[in-house]
Amino acid sequence: MFTFEKLYSMGHEEVVFFSDPSCNLKAIIAIHNTTLGPALGGTRMWNYKNIDEAIEDVLRLSRGMTYKAAISGLNLGGGKAVILGDPAKDKSEALFRSYGRFVESLNGRYITAEDVNTSVDDMEHIFTETNNVTGVAEINGGSGNPSPWTARGVFRGMEASCLKVFGDRSVKGKVVALQGAGSVGCHLGKFLYDNGAKVYFTDINEANIARFKQAVPNAELVGINDIYDVKADIYAPCALGATVNDQTIERLKVKIICGAANNQLAENRHGDILKERNILYAPDYLINAGGLMNVSIEFEGWSAEKSTKMVDGIFEKTLSIFKLSDEQNIPVYKATDLMAEQRLQSIKAIKGNFLGNIGHRFPGRKSTH
Ligand code: NAD
Repeated sequence: MFTFEKLYSMGHEEVVFFSDPSCNLKAIIAIHNTTLGPALGGTRMWNYKNIDEAIEDVLRLSRGMTYKAAISGLNLGGGKAVILGDPAKDKSEALFRSYGRFVESLNGRYITAEDVNTSVDDMEHIFTETNNVTGVAEINGGSGNPSPWTARGVFRGMEASCLKVFGDRSVKGKVVALQGAGSVGCHLGKFLYDNGAKVYFTDINEANIARFKQAVPNAELVGINDIYDVKADIYAPCALGATVNDQTIERLKVKIICGAANNQLAENRHGDILKERNILYAPDYLINAGGLMNVSIEFEGWSAEKSTKMVDGIFEKTLSIFKLSDEQNIPVYKATDLMAEQRLQSIKAIKGNFLGNIGHRFPGRKSTH
């Protein structure tokens, strides 16, 4: 149920409901925290069972974006949007353009991008109505598909994890159990193959399995439920959240958990259990931030060089979180939250003085339309 108490407890600044019956648009934008800059986060289109489910999702996701931007050193706040509807039936140019006009009405406090069930083409329609959209096509000054960048960041996080656990950053000779051979999983598989790791993988989608086998010729397919039992060094969840839970922890034989999926721990206490069992958990919302880093530089002019430099920084940042976790003897997930919160607090503190009109950090691009 939607209450102001809930917003207070989760720390949201603003939640806006938009409707346009002319194109059957029902959308919610949640702005969680803008201490670091405008709230950037994707727009998810989903056939929610009811409005409460949609609200819960947008509140949870937007809060996650605040932490992801903060830990990644980005000058962005946390926000997210959901469009209620069936992506197979309800998408139209009018719907996304109407939505884009509402995004524009927030005057730059929220910047959108792709998320589950929204594409570069949808962003192009939004871009017709507002500059406050990222992930548009490269020919329009955008950065295109974020998945290869997300995979690159996950791979850097994996190298940092290997350095910590095995004393060598190389994945050569390591065995990886990869769940989810989708957009990110497939690119990650390729990184692993190119760097000499052995990959066991699983997926439920035949086309994605075939594509993965082509990209990673020596990969071995295992059953959907068998992935947790593979005798591997690393478990890489790249499909769903909450796969690190009471049932799977008992079965995992790995030394490292490092993958792209959001919210891998079913509950925080599972992060505590991993520490007790000496399984290193790479901080999910940092190591999967490559896609966000990539879109964040669209405003200053995207280039592959800039994106590479930023995403490769995930290696050092991951090591610094492991160090904090060791120094304070706290689980990695707590160290990650702590570091993100410290940055938010310290930047909030320096904004106490009035400095006149210092201009906007993100001037926005000129629309080509
Ligand atoms: P995707 O939809 O392309 O791939 C997900 C894959 O998981 C699909 O191939 C799907 O068939 C498979 N899958 C679904 N249920 C499964 C199951 N029970 N067992 C095994 N496989 C299953 O998504 P993606 O863009 O590759 O993202 C993967 C994960 O990473 C998601 O959790 C996403 O939220 C997260 N993530 C993605 C990005 C990005 O840039 N795409 C960024 C940050 C986080």
